[in-house]
Amino acid sequence: MNQIPNFLLERVRLTPNRIAVVSDQEEITFKELHERVIQLAGRFHSCGIEKGKHVSVLMNNSIEFIVTVYAIHYIGAIAILLNTRLSEDEISYQIQNSDSNFLIVENENFIAPPSTVRVLEMNNIQQFEVKPVVIREYFNHDEIATMMYTSGTTGFPKAVLQSYGNHWSSAIASVLNLGLDQSDVWLVCLPMFHVGGLSTVYKSAIYGMKIVLAEKAEAGIVLNYINQYKITILSVVTKVLNDLLNFEDINKGLSSIRAALLGGGPAPLPLLQKAQERNVPVYQTYGMTETCSQIATLSPEFMLSKIGSAGKALFGCSLEIRENDKKSSPGVVGEIVVKGPNVSKGYYKLQTNDTSEFFYTGDLGYVDEDGFLFVVDRRSDLIISGGENIYPAEIESILLSHPDLIEAGVTGREDPTWGKVPIAFVIAKSKNHPSEQEMIEFCQKKLAKFKIPKEIHFVSSLPRNAANKLVRRELHKLL
Ligand code: ATP
Ligand code: MG
Repeated sequence: MNQIPNFLLERVRLTPNRIAVVSDQEEITFKELHERVIQLAGRFHSCGIEKGKHVSVLMNNSIEFIVTVYAIHYIGAIAILLNTRLSEDEISYQIQNSDSNFLIVENENFIAPPSTVRVLEMNNIQQFEVKPVVIREYFNHDEIATMMYTSGTTGFPKAVLQSYGNHWSSAIASVLNLGLDQSDVWLVCLPMFHVGGLSTVYKSAIYGMKIVLAEKAEAGIVLNYINQYKITILSVVTKVLNDLLNFEDINKGLSSIRAALLGGGPAPLPLLQKAQERNVPVYQTYGMTETCSQIATLSPEFMLSKIGSAGKALFGCSLEIRENDKKSSPGVVGEIVVKGPNVSKGYYKLQTNDTSEFFYTGDLGYVDEDGFLFVVDRRSDLIISGGENIYPAEIESILLSHPDLIEAGVTGREDPTWGKVPIAFVIAKSKNHPSEQEMIEFCQKKLAKFKIPKEIHFVSSLPRNAANKLVRRELHKLL
């Protein structure tokens, strides 16, 4: 399909009176959402936002966020979604790097934007007149809808170009995997400035499905939403899932859930096992900003037999493992390469990919004999010790299986004999934690000798980026 319909407009034509979004403050139908979008697009238009302009959005999850993004789409401008947890300098860099003409903020709290950008505050946007806009009814498949910076876990964040075709294809591939039920309600507890959150907004319009916006992604709060709104699907990161599973009587609390999509980072085996014991239907997913959400997911019928796997590439997508540009045999670790209509054509102002070719993800993994993907780790975090490959995620997963630890990070330290050796930084649940020696003995029972951390440091926090991901390249600063 070369043209993609304006998602929301199409949905309003079909089922205008269905509930689209629920927040703590209100619930609105698709028609009401569309009417608000038209109003806001008119105000944006009178401020000079036109087709092709670059519009940065610096907002937290809210119905207004959704209205803003659609208003930008209705005009045919490009939305650049900025992470509100970044520092002011990082935000300024992204505004300039993306050549943003406008910056939309909730209020004046963000005080020092670069002078090149015109700032529009949502809390006094009413002062601008509504100038009628010619609404875009269709978009070209390759037309850029959004730009989103990668999390900056392995290096400097890059602005990923995400087209309408990418977002559309991602939503379709996901529903072909999960199916859709009339009663489906999806809880959004990931930020919408990341693709995991934003993709759910598009799914809502494309599927005609209600979404509920969670005020905070804390397990207790998430559980309340699940019960109150009979949530059937949610996307979670490991921390929230782990906390959810620690609630007593969790089966009852989560009984409406038919799929908890777990992604964004390594899924430690003990966590997956815990979910399995408690009968919580966790689907491990694999994806990145460049694939506009998940590109592989483990289907439910394989949840027991393929625990630890991120499944197979979604319908219409493909993945393989390559080393030195050659396809690896089953079981052999190499770089994960992916292809599909949801894969971005590249980064703004950097190289662009030929989307008919595979995209090299920078992640290492293998596929088993049955074609199931197991994500191993990031290539840049690999530790080579005496010629052996050591994957930090494997050691972290073992450390996290210890009941007294809550977080773990592993990196390589220079060593005259081995080149590099693994060392670990851990956070204990309480002051009465096991000693370093006891932890090393614990690892000795579970890991090959060369993988046992040579040092285990107890620390109070680990370096994390604005996406809350562990930044292993900064662990050595804790020494
Ligand atoms: P940067 O590209 O700037 O270093 P980032 O890769 O963390 O940042 P994102 O696009 O937010 O930016 O994250 C995608 C990455 O998250 C994947 O490339 C992968 O490394 C990791 N990831 C996602 N799902 C999984 C999974 N199931 N198992 C292991 N890692 C995963
Ligand atoms: Mg990345």
